[in-house]
This record gives sequence, C-alpha cells and structure tokens, in this order.
Amino acid sequence: MHDVGKALTAVRARIGALERRYHRPSGSVALLAVSKTKPAEAVRAAVAAGQRAFGENHLQDAMTKVEALAGQGVSWHFIGAVQSNKTRPIATHFDWVHGIEREKIATRLSAQRPAGREPLDVCIEVNVSGEATKSGVSPDAVEPLARLIRALPGLRLRGLMAIPRPAADLETQRIPFRLLREILDDLNAKGLELDTLSMGMTGDLEAAIAEGATMVRVGTAIFGPR
Ligand SMILES: *Cc1c(COP(=O)(O)O)cnc(C)c1O
Repeated sequence: MHDVGKALTAVRARIGALERRYHRPSGSVALLAVSKTKPAEAVRAAVAAGQRAFGENHLQDAMTKVEALAGQGVSWHFIGAVQSNKTRPIATHFDWVHGIEREKIATRLSAQRPAGREPLDVCIEVNVSGEATKSGVSPDAVEPLARLIRALPGLRLRGLMAIPRPAADLETQRIPFRLLREILDDLNAKGLELDTLSMGMTGDLEAAIAEGATMVRVGTAIFGPR
C-alpha cells in the first residue's frame, strides 16, 4: 500500500535539498500536490501530513474531492486545459488556474468569479518547447495577454506556467525553464509584478528549481503512478 505521508516527507526533503544546492532561499519553492485521478482518501492522507494545495486537471474528477474536503482549508489549483463550457464551476470552486492561454477563457473566468471572493489567481501557460508542443501561448504573445488579464477584475495574474517537452538529461531540461524565467524577468522589468513560476514535475523537478521555479507541481512522487 502506497504511503502518501511518507512520500510527501521525502518530496519535501528533496525540494529542501535542491533549494540549498541551487542557492535558493529556504521555503522559496512551494509544493503543489497533483492529485488528479487519485481518490479523496489519498488527498485526505496528504492533508493529514500537512499538505494544503492540490492540483487537478479534470473538473468532474476534481469535484468529488472538492466536496469531500470542504472545510479543511485546502486550496484547489486547476492545471488542465480550460474548456469554455467549464469556466463557471472552475471560477466558483478553484483558487488558482495555471493554464490560461486564451483571452476568451480569461474573460469568462473573470466575469464568473463569484462576487465577494478574492480574485482567482492565474498563470499564463507558455509554449517554451517551440513546434514540439501545442499547448501554451508563444513567447511573443505573453505580454499582450498579460496586460489584458491585468485589466480583468476577477483575476489576479501571478505568473507563468510551462510543461516542456520531456528530456532525459538535466542540462537539456533546464533550457525551456530558463526561457520561462527570462520571459517572467522581462515582464517584471516592464512593471508587471509577477511572483510565480509554475514549473517542474516529478521528472524534471531539479531542473525547474535550478532555474527559479517558485511552485512545482508534483503528482507521481507523492501519490504513486497513475
Ligand atoms: C499530471 C501533471 C503534473 C504532475 O506530473 P507528475 O509527473 O505525476 O509529477 C504536473 N503538471 C501538470 C500540468 C500535470 O498535468
């Protein structure tokens, strides 16, 4: 039987060791536990071990867990592609959306964020692997989309997110993460005040932390294979 609490402790220790290795301040890399496809009991075990932020990529699969964990102080991050007919429940039940890549989706999420709630925290997904992947906006298109999102009252633009094409070695993995960080630095130099680089998963955690990730999205290393 997979021990979620034990796995979480190991992942936290690994993040701490990587912060030290790459001269990142202690605690500067937040852990998003990706619980997609896993049952509510697995999320409960992680909550018991102190984890509070969870990532889901499928609305229906997420909703049973959102309901089961209500009142536990858990924050829910939507990390999948947002379809326009799902924006209302996502704006209602989630705290973050990591993969904004279209103006239409941003506008709908903002309009549908319930009144009286904090704005929805969002990241723009950037295609940092060129032709090889289709999701995310091209680096050139990030700034106009960022300025548009900044004008939407129901959203708070926090930063950028990427899912690079898998690569086997550390140096190759670092290249797209470095590009994402440079795009963020450029936007901040232009006054955008972004604080989040959502990058790094189980297989490329080290490369992402080396290049400045502030939030890593880890599923397999915490919850076991899907
Ligand atoms: C599934 C998923 C993850 C976690 O992947 P692991 O390899 O299991 O750590 C991270 N980010 C996104 C967007 C995902 O869909």
